[in-house]
Amino acid sequence: MGNLKKAINRFMSLFFYCSGFYYILKFINRKKIRVLMYHGVDERQTDFILDDPTLVISTKNFEEQIKYLSKSYNIISTHDLVAHIKNKISFPLNSVVITFDDGLKNNFINAFPILQKYNAKATIFLTTDYIDTLKINWSNKFYYFINKIGLNEFVEEFEREFPAYPNLIEKIGHKNLTENMNFILKYKIDENIREKFIQRLYDKFGIKINKEEIKHLYLSWKEIKKMADAGISFGSHTSTHPVLSLLDYEKAEKEIIDSKKNIEVKLDKKIHLFAYPYGNKDSFNSNIKKILAGYNFLCAVSTIEGFNNLNSDLYELKRISIVDEPFYYFKLRIEGLEGFIEKIQHKAYRYFKRRRY
Ligand SMILES: [Zn+2]
Repeated sequence: MGNLKKAINRFMSLFFYCSGFYYILKFINRKKIRVLMYHGVDERQTDFILDDPTLVISTKNFEEQIKYLSKSYNIISTHDLVAHIKNKISFPLNSVVITFDDGLKNNFINAFPILQKYNAKATIFLTTDYIDTLKINWSNKFYYFINKIGLNEFVEEFEREFPAYPNLIEKIGHKNLTENMNFILKYKIDENIREKFIQRLYDKFGIKINKEEIKHLYLSWKEIKKMADAGISFGSHTSTHPVLSLLDYEKAEKEIIDSKKNIEVKLDKKIHLFAYPYGNKDSFNSNIKKILAGYNFLCAVSTIEGFNNLNSDLYELKRISIVDEPFYYFKLRIEGLEGFIEKIQHKAYRYFKRRRY
């Protein structure tokens, strides 16, 4: 988001909050259900993940949020959510579901004690290939390179390797360059070629990732088991976090069932919940949904922003991504105010555009 747009957004949020409009919004939305999406909960940013407030929120903010949810909302489990939609039974008023993607270790260290303290139900979606293996994915390696060596060096090497992408900095600009490079690597470069390219970079720049650092990135089975015993639910987030829609049918199927079986064996429990890696509209399709239904998954959560209701597609549940922002903003976000403001901004923009031309 542009800085000006962000500033306007914050100003309008504060205005709506102070004017009490928030309470009206909460009343209007009381019968809908919001599924919150978290990733990391930590004070410290890791070199393996993009420094982005949507991906890691501070423990202090997390506690403030869970404390508030446990007091003012009905925290229900993902399984409860499924049962309500399947049986068309109204949700308890002001229902909320708490989810975490990727299975980061800080979920155990920082989030779990807070969830327990407030007796809050939650579901963690695991990327199973990275548990107890000291393996990390290409995206972790990409961010690690940028944090240790630099983005310019990465782009320079990338342009040399892939002449079909010349003058990237000129074209994209420095702002959002990291996200754009990640996007190109994710969608435009074949996975084997991408893997080899990154390996070559690591060799050339003599990068060796400290095994101790990797150990602190993802959850271990021991930690997962401890949380499962304490009532935290688990779901699959595939084996290696690919864009499922880009894979052929068999490969996608394997990513899903291997990960499901892996968790089932380790926890001695059937696994029925799924979260699409990346989770946007383009990251899954009807074939993927068919695979999930065929292997008895009850639902799949996306990263498409919004509320759910009794008519929601269980294999395309919407979520609200939680951001490391001031508390008032959290309260507004979970009532969908951001979408509301964006609609107003969009209308205002169209109005002024019409007047000018
Ligand atoms: Zn993910």
